Amino acid sequence: MPSGPAPTLGEDLRALERAFPYPRSLPMDPLAQLQRYRKDPRSAEVVGVVASTIAVGNVKTIQQDLGALLKRIGPDPRGLVESFPRREWRTFFHPWRHRWIRADQMGMLLLRLGEAYENYPGGLEEVFREGSGALGPAERFSGGIDALSRVLRYGSLKEGSSLYEPPPGYTQLFPSPRAPGRPACKRELLFVRWMVRRHAPDLGLWRRVDPADLHIPLDTHVYWIARHLRLTRRRSRNWPTVVEITEGLRRLDPVDPIRFDFALAHTGISGDCPKHRDWEVCGRCRVRPDCDLWRGRPVPPGPNGPVRP
Ligand code: SF4
Repeated sequence: MPSGPAPTLGEDLRALERAFPYPRSLPMDPLAQLQRYRKDPRSAEVVGVVASTIAVGNVKTIQQDLGALLKRIGPDPRGLVESFPRREWRTFFHPWRHRWIRADQMGMLLLRLGEAYENYPGGLEEVFREGSGALGPAERFSGGIDALSRVLRYGSLKEGSSLYEPPPGYTQLFPSPRAPGRPACKRELLFVRWMVRRHAPDLGLWRRVDPADLHIPLDTHVYWIARHLRLTRRRSRNWPTVVEITEGLRRLDPVDPIRFDFALAHTGISGDCPKHRDWEVCGRCRVRPDCDLWRGRPVPPGPNGPVRP
């Protein structure tokens, strides 16, 4: 059995991207809620951090629960964070809940964002750059994510500088790729992708961070497809796997390595990939020639085969 991705992978991923039904999938993505803030970067950051923090589980539930948070936040996310009633952080979103994420944790998040903007007037891009600035290419991105996660946990790069103690479980919402176990930090990587990539549907608001440095936000769908496209053989969904998949994608597009992330994630989310051999679905799949379930196998005769879709 050949190892590594098929030589056709780059061409087929570009075909997937070209044909991808973005208007169908964007409304299912938390990124849809950020589109209205393209001209208000600080509000986009606030809504982006809130949306990415709860981006776990079923897409419909995420959209419902995000909608409830945004209703409470109101039309001016930046203004709310800058004048947030800090003594109300425990009750501000009460009785909201999304899976294991509680209202008091989301209230603390707004409080921390307010502290962060006081400490770093350049916003979260400044924080990210401060964490990544002095490091070499291999560590630059993880340094930025580490700084971002510390500021969301503590309001500052230094722990213990806030008057307000976080509620139980709060700091665990913002893992660092440098923590023991080297977590994949999917939600922080998703947020940074939204802010940095210059092409729609991403917002491209952080102009001083190079899209070439981005790493893949590794959700369960992207991991499954990446394994079956032989971008990784690793069994853990952790930071080394993020790095390995990103390196594989960087060989296909060094300037914009995670350009295919939205299409790959939503191929899984929308049910376009059954995650088993099903010719009715796989016959239309642009990356079928590269997928381990089909690579080297004859395709069934009939209207869908054996031509390349
Ligand atoms: S060929 Fe089928 S199983 Fe493989 S990635 Fe495409 S849809 Fe999924």
